[in-house]
Amino acid sequence: MNDCIFCKIIAGEIPSAKVYEDDEILIFKDIAPIAKIHLLCVPKEHFAYLSDVTAERAALLGRTLEKIGKLRSRLGLDDGYRLVINQGENAGQTVHHLHIHILGGEPLPWGN
Ligand code: 5GP
Ligand code: ZN
Repeated sequence: MNDCIFCKIIAGEIPSAKVYEDDEILIFKDIAPIAKIHLLCVPKEHFAYLSDVTAERAALLGRTLEKIGKLRSRLGLDDGYRLVINQGENAGQTVHHLHIHILGGEPLPWGN
């Protein structure tokens, strides 16, 4: 999508601190971290909401969760982490390209 900031990051048009990339996902550092480790995991395919998920996208999200679990040590998350997906206005979603916040690196207060 032309005006999507995460599509631009995926395309390399906007710089980001990448920590992992493969053919289907990119993980990079959040520009405004709310935890010691705050990463964003984005599917390379643009879609905004879980309500846009098809069977293929559900399979992609499943592989993505599996990948995050396997990358745990490499990402510095051995002591635990939290995944957050904001959806819509009430959740404060600001970027309308589905993304998983990965939070960790310290004890996390509930409600971040
Ligand atoms: P949301 O509120 O939509 O769930 O989260 C969007 C996240 O994207 C925010 O935590 C925000 O800090 C992050 N973000 C927005 N623009 C950029 C950017 O240009 N680069 C990076 N690395 N993160 C961004
Ligand atoms: Zn996008």
